[in-house]
Amino acid sequence: MKRLTSAICFSALLFSAAASAQDNPEWAIALHGGAGVIERGDMSPAMEAEYRAALEDALRLGAGQLEIGASALDAVEVTIRTMEDDPKFNSGKGAVFTAAGRNELDASIMDGETLNAGAVAGVTRVRHPITLARLVMTDSPHVMLAGSGAETFAEEAGAELVAPSHFFTERRWQSLLRTLEEKGLPAPDRPEGVAAPEEETVDDAALNLMEREHKFGTVGVVAVDREGNIAAGTSTGGTTAKLWGRVGDSPIIGAGTYASNESCAVSGTGTGEYFIRLTVASAVCDHVKYKGEDIQTAADAVIHGDLTELGGDGGVVAMTPDGAVAFSFNTPGMYRGHLRAGEEPKVMIYGDED
Ligand code: ASP
Repeated sequence: MKRLTSAICFSALLFSAAASAQDNPEWAIALHGGAGVIERGDMSPAMEAEYRAALEDALRLGAGQLEIGASALDAVEVTIRTMEDDPKFNSGKGAVFTAAGRNELDASIMDGETLNAGAVAGVTRVRHPITLARLVMTDSPHVMLAGSGAETFAEEAGAELVAPSHFFTERRWQSLLRTLEEKGLPAPDRPEGVAAPEEETVDDAALNLMEREHKFGTVGVVAVDREGNIAAGTSTGGTTAKLWGRVGDSPIIGAGTYASNESCAVSGTGTGEYFIRLTVASAVCDHVKYKGEDIQTAADAVIHGDLTELGGDGGVVAMTPDGAVAFSFNTPGMYRGHLRAGEEPKVMIYGDED
């Protein structure tokens, strides 16, 4: 069994600090649940507790797999699956809506040991896009499948299919209507098969938070297993009111997700149009591989350097095969956490937490 040395660092805005770390964890997992304008006072104590509990539960689930010897890939997939079922996050159920009133889901996964990868874009009936992404990797000759073709493959590969209304949540719908109104765009019809509006009340605080979160909420996980292999995965509904089959960075290997045992594993969240052009995820790993930077320095160079200079916003969670973890984001907050063998889970939301 490979013993891992580790250091955990955090960075928000211009803040960057190394936190204490236990030496040699046998495995480690870290995740994000989206970045954005999430500030103290935006959330009620109850809402904040719900988010923290959801992040912790997800971490514990993935960690439980790593503890019993599962691969980093398995841990990434199982952790993202549970977040895809949680309507608090913008992935699977609870995904944001397109301008046309649909949920179009994107996901990707990458194995750092083999550099195998799988991705899906614009799927509307797949309960767990991350699992379909993994099936693309393992059961198809391709890396990325999109739209109806991806769903045909999902049927053949045995991925769980659901009605599009499965992904509907009233608060995301109300958020879409608000966004379309602000942009002067027409509101689509309410999707078929969903409850009437009065049957689910929308908490104003929750709606305001979504606006301030920049409508993000993508989920991403990185992990290293007992063999020292790393993996990364990302799943999202994209951005609210996205147009014409828009695809963001999350399903693009190198942009939203990357993993290589030679460098690092990364999952990003933020404005995909910037992450794609900067190939953010692989750029972080290139800093590690070619410049020999530690993971925090590498993540900060891309997020506080290149991304910020180009005008993009968002962040990453990153991990090296020796178990070092970095969070870096140029937004006021990012839902995030980590858990390593022998430690208690640590979850954070605001930029000043470490
Ligand atoms: N990166 C995602 C996208 O652009 C959105 C997000 O992370 O919230 O599709």
